[in-house]
Amino acid sequence: MSRGNIPYHRHTSQWNKHMVKRILENGKYLGTGVYPRLISDEEFLAVQIQREDKTDYIPCPTELSPIREKAVCAVCGSRIARDTKSHGRPRWVCTSPDCGAIVHISDEEVLKRVSQRLRQLANSPDLLTPPPTLEAVPSADALRIQNELNVCFNRSDINPDYMKTLIFAAAAERYAVLPDLTPVHDIEALRKRLETGPANGSDLRELLAKAVKAVRVGGPNYIERQ
Ligand SMILES: [Zn+2]
Repeated sequence: MSRGNIPYHRHTSQWNKHMVKRILENGKYLGTGVYPRLISDEEFLAVQIQREDKTDYIPCPTELSPIREKAVCAVCGSRIARDTKSHGRPRWVCTSPDCGAIVHISDEEVLKRVSQRLRQLANSPDLLTPPPTLEAVPSADALRIQNELNVCFNRSDINPDYMKTLIFAAAAERYAVLPDLTPVHDIEALRKRLETGPANGSDLRELLAKAVKAVRVGGPNYIERQ
């Protein structure tokens, strides 16, 4: 319309989406009154349905999904769920019935606050500490095989094949209980990368996924107790 120099009205030749929206939702343009028909009945109906959807239900923005998975109540630490069923505006409701905290905060605000915190973290990579790993405790089998080996070493008639089998079995038993160090290496690699320069969006997403245990939703300005 803008390119074809068809004016919206005599003061404006430039079109924007709001002008299109106003026409699409105005029943005057169904051609039943003094104006010529500009929109079909189907288009008019489709617009009405879309508008109803918009006010009743706010879909969860994709960027919010990883935050939801880690969201906990700032009051009690229980899981907190995003709820859009009431008032048409998202709110967060603590899943602990003893707490019942409700947090009124917009999706934009949640995203803004979380990215601010992630950026702070990215700017001080030395704050990133690897998760604690449990010390590997040898299993009862490992100890039993080790004892058997000790006995064999003290014997005069050593059977090398049997000893070899025992040594491999002892090693396998001890290896099986070693902790998975992937998270430790992941954090270490991320920390090194963040030290070399400013973080981009994918670094921040990785930070959230790998280095953040929980996102506390709420705070004095947002929480209402029931
Ligand atoms: Zn709570």
